[in-house]
Amino acid sequence: MPHPRVPGADLHAHSTASDGTDRPAELLQAALAARLAVVAITDHDTTGGWAEAAAALPRGLTVVPGAELSCFAPAEDDPSRAVSLHLLAYLFDPEEPRLAQARRRLRDSRVTRAERMVAGLVAAGVPISWEQVRELAGTGAVGRPHVARALVAAGVVPEVGAAFSPELIADGGRFYVDKEELPVLEAIRLVRAAGGVAVFAHPLAARRGEVVGDATIAAMAAAGLAGLEADHVDHDPAARARARGLAADLGLLVTGGSDYHGRAKTVPLGAHTTTAEALEALLAQGQGCRPWSG
Ligand code: AMP
Ligand code: ZN
Ligand code: FE
Ligand code: FE
Repeated sequence: MPHPRVPGADLHAHSTASDGTDRPAELLQAALAARLAVVAITDHDTTGGWAEAAAALPRGLTVVPGAELSCFAPAEDDPSRAVSLHLLAYLFDPEEPRLAQARRRLRDSRVTRAERMVAGLVAAGVPISWEQVRELAGTGAVGRPHVARALVAAGVVPEVGAAFSPELIADGGRFYVDKEELPVLEAIRLVRAAGGVAVFAHPLAARRGEVVGDATIAAMAAAGLAGLEADHVDHDPAARARARGLAADLGLLVTGGSDYHGRAKTVPLGAHTTTAEALEALLAQGQGCRPWSG
């Protein structure tokens, strides 16, 4: 007998197309196992997992194609300083040349910065290699979690999370190297111009590092942002409530997503979801491509 499907829509999940550990087809099977009705595939700076996911669509599951774009905004108290942030983009035209070019630039910069991080670690006597990190990333967009997995394999740290320390590759850590990021207002306009819908991922996740202020979120709304991801593992109850308040003030949708990374992180698929009403409004705004229904 098929599992009864709860009407859950998890709008944030990663695959091996970036730093997740499930192949796109496995991600969809995991969504079925979690009894989700809808899942989005949102790899970092790439649509590389879309084709495999579309070809492996299980019956009864709807997939929202997307990506999570690496962006920055000037800090409100000191515009010479950049604050990193993540923009979820859904239902954009994957062929639209300006956004495609921007994703390519972000991915290329991920390669050179990962090479530089590895070179720094190697120079300090850490027994890993660029070949190894490349292989761990496969054809996917390379990220710090791949470097972290090499550090685990070398016995330098016991698990991936431990590599995100000030002594290693945490933000601003000893071996950390910046990657290229898109100015967020420009990114929102690019997503919109490609027919897509933009949602600010984990906007108030202070434990991940510095977050932007309300004025930046208001400017993002004015540039065409559609929603705020209020329900996310890195938001405590106060942050979720504040995100809901901001969304209400700015006329934005409220979304939720697990930010599933497979074995790379402990949050299960479906841990956070988006209401049917918000999903419907989001889908209505997406003009660059359609969701895939199996
Ligand atoms: P990057 O985009 O290459 O700078 O790497 C950042 C990614 O590393 C995030 O999107 C997360 O997927 C992952 N990450 C960040 N902090 C941690 C952590 N403490 N443990 C495991 N993964 C992490
Ligand atoms: Zn990630
Ligand atoms: Fe993110
Ligand atoms: Fe993510």
